[in-house]
Amino acid sequence: MKERERLRIKELLGGGVAEGSDVSVKGWVRTKRGNKNVAFLAVNDGSIIHNLQIVADVEKLDNELKKITTGSCIAVSGKLVTSSGQGQSVEVHADSIELYGAAPPDSYPLQKKGHTLEFLREIAHLRPRTNTFGAVFRIRHAMAFAIHKYFNDRGFYCLHTPIITGSDAEGAGAMFHVTAFELDRIPRNSDGNVDYTQDFFGRSANLTVSGQLEGELGAMALGKIYTFGPTFRAENSNTPRHLSEFWMIEPEMAFYEISDNMDSAEDFLKYLIRYALENCSSDLEFLTQMYDRELTERLHSVVEKEFVRLTYTEGVKILEQSGQPFEFPVGWGIDLQSEHERYLVEKHFRKPVILTDYPREIKAFYMKQNDDGKTVRAMDVLFPKIGEIIGGSQREDDYVKLKTRMKELSIPEKDMWWYLETRKFGTAPHSGFGLGFERLLLFVTGMTNIRDVIPFPRTPKNAEF
Ligand code: ATP
Ligand code: MN
Repeated sequence: MKERERLRIKELLGGGVAEGSDVSVKGWVRTKRGNKNVAFLAVNDGSIIHNLQIVADVEKLDNELKKITTGSCIAVSGKLVTSSGQGQSVEVHADSIELYGAAPPDSYPLQKKGHTLEFLREIAHLRPRTNTFGAVFRIRHAMAFAIHKYFNDRGFYCLHTPIITGSDAEGAGAMFHVTAFELDRIPRNSDGNVDYTQDFFGRSANLTVSGQLEGELGAMALGKIYTFGPTFRAENSNTPRHLSEFWMIEPEMAFYEISDNMDSAEDFLKYLIRYALENCSSDLEFLTQMYDRELTERLHSVVEKEFVRLTYTEGVKILEQSGQPFEFPVGWGIDLQSEHERYLVEKHFRKPVILTDYPREIKAFYMKQNDDGKTVRAMDVLFPKIGEIIGGSQREDDYVKLKTRMKELSIPEKDMWWYLETRKFGTAPHSGFGLGFERLLLFVTGMTNIRDVIPFPRTPKNAEF
């Protein structure tokens, strides 16, 4: 059978193939049942959450059937017919079955259904074969595609910013070092410090924590750009919302002020969620049924509601007056915890909130300073169940102010001269934001642990697969 003749189960179940056609399908057996005359195989090929039922005559195909168990991979040729069974429109009556690979039942970890998500994390190499992870990873793909489409349709250019960066001042968290030194023989200067001039890049290098700074360079030439790449943070934050390696989408727009930036973030999120509702319905239905009864409803509600916009100062006031016993006490100047963010979103407003104008002391050096001398034009988008999903700001475009702020924070100009030069040569108002891809996926899939929305999660003490 030629591979190009194979039909995907999505196409067969979609009704586009005439009944009575001879078809061939390939996939993994999810269940096998039957009696001494006839066998029923539920086959899944990853194209859709639903399985295709294969009906096989035991007398005719016993040789193959004997070897087939849950997890086996098979190729089937047969006739597409209307199904008399429940829950499926069509099935295939097999003329021939070829066994590609067996899966011995005594050792195949997915032999039985109903494993916990924790257990499935330990078999990250096999968990894509479950309904749950099939659904999650198909949605992940759909969201990645929608992101490129959204920006492309609106005149943004995709800019690939570097993964290895020479700067360690990106301001978004602890970094992983990149070196070609042999770790037990690191050259040192006479003063005992590491001699990076002998290292691969002739200087210290790190994995990026954000593509933003380079993204800004792109925006100052191409107008509107976005990055979509992996970022790395060496923080020991073992939470259900943090990964050590995660993907981030960072648009950066010349001539956008903070309010344009907010409009843009809101429109972008609504577009993506609408896209999921329109294009991932069978996977969303499954996840709603299995994990989160309110999922579909919550997605609709976010698309329909206007996000609340208020300042950090107003937000803190609401929290102070809430009478809620927060684990972390609230006061002007604190970095809001996810419990605070979720109170505002889930209890107080019951819709997404864009919080702006944060104290400058808790935000990055590059954010545009307000005239009050205390706050910066930051904006965080806060979502139900998630807390912060987007962090962004209008950027400081004044050369002197930016340089002064960097000095105050001891950010070495020798590492960041190139960034400063955008303000020296043809500076312009501009803004941007970062959307954590896996945070978006948590929201869209209803999963509650970020380790379950990325194929191979990297977290402290975990990088096996
Ligand atoms: P948080 O306060 O939640 O730790 P942050 O303020 O460090 O996040 P930013 O530096 O503003 O986050 O990053 C932009 C976006 O990237 C965040 O809004 C969030 O969606 C996502 N993000 C940040 N850190 C992580 C992480 N460790 N794992 C997954 N996503 C993350
Ligand atoms: Mn942030």
